[in-house]
Amino acid sequence: MTMILPHIERLSGYAQGEQPPEGTNAIRLNLNESSYPPSPEVIKALKSIPEETLRRYPDAKCDKLRSALAKHYGVREEQTFCSNGSSEIISLLMKVFIGPRGQIAIPDPSFPLYHSAAASYQVECIGIPTLDDFSIDVEHLIDSSAQAVVLVNPNAPTGLLLSMENVERLVRDFKGLIILDEAYIDFASGEASAISLIDRYPNLLVIRTFSKAYALCGARIGYCFGNEKLIAALEKGKDIYNVDSISRELALAALNDQSYMQATTDAIKRTRNHFSEQLTRQGFTVVPSHTNFILCKPPAALGYPTASELYEILMAQNIYVRYYQQRRLREYLRITIGTDAEMDAVLLAMSQILGQ
Ligand SMILES: *Cc1c(COP(=O)(O)O)cnc(C)c1O
Repeated sequence: MTMILPHIERLSGYAQGEQPPEGTNAIRLNLNESSYPPSPEVIKALKSIPEETLRRYPDAKCDKLRSALAKHYGVREEQTFCSNGSSEIISLLMKVFIGPRGQIAIPDPSFPLYHSAAASYQVECIGIPTLDDFSIDVEHLIDSSAQAVVLVNPNAPTGLLLSMENVERLVRDFKGLIILDEAYIDFASGEASAISLIDRYPNLLVIRTFSKAYALCGARIGYCFGNEKLIAALEKGKDIYNVDSISRELALAALNDQSYMQATTDAIKRTRNHFSEQLTRQGFTVVPSHTNFILCKPPAALGYPTASELYEILMAQNIYVRYYQQRRLREYLRITIGTDAEMDAVLLAMSQILGQ
């Protein structure tokens, strides 16, 4: 007798890609982590956690952080939800809004975690192919009969940003729930966030995270904004103490140091633009990025390594980037933007490998 539910037994688990062995000083450009430390205010907050914080249960709704986020983004507390990383929200969506045999639609390619979260709740995930240049097929998403449409904006792993006009069109014309994942929005140019739309559209949920622009992926804090009814439903569905007492203090300190976040994201954007230009000079095709990573296609000339070979060669040189086997992506590499020194090391390795 098996004790494991068949749909769980069938799961392959979330594929993170090859990781460097612990203790090696590899250049890690494969998980979109930050190469910059979190704000010094975060480290200060960490060092001044009183013992009582550990001894007491946290308040269940994460009030202090929730109210700070609401204030910062100009929404109400009842429109704000805090979570154990935004991955928790991605799972909660399946549990609270979709349910077994339900369906979600998501552009293809996009963030694979939506597929694995869906599978573990017996939700069907329908891929809507992006156009040849990876841009989002908005009409196709609007026409979907799924209960929810997921839009990662800027998208991962392409880095492309869908215009606000198109985002609003999708939210307005699609009849079900819109899950808008803005994990990388702080690296985008202009006023790209759709948070201001939540008052007008009761079917919109905007997901954010402290993992990327605030360099806190190890602390696991995510949040989302939406209509009061959606937020109240997430509160009912979550584990009671989903955000630990320490992480919420760290997130608060990070949020309160906007100038540091601005300075580090600006630095990453500058590095990204320079790195993209240099790769283009080496013959790569670079998808224009609004994130802290780039998707690029190596030059395909006789005798040059393929993307998958390049991935292996770089790994042998202790440089870890991301390679995807799937059809639309197998000629590409996804490279996280690190410090200038790290990206110079990548450029040097590339030019040596390509014999330029
Ligand atoms: C990194 C990422 C997340 C963040 O996950 P956390 O659980 O908050 O660390 C969410 N969505 C996308 C598209 C991401 O790339």
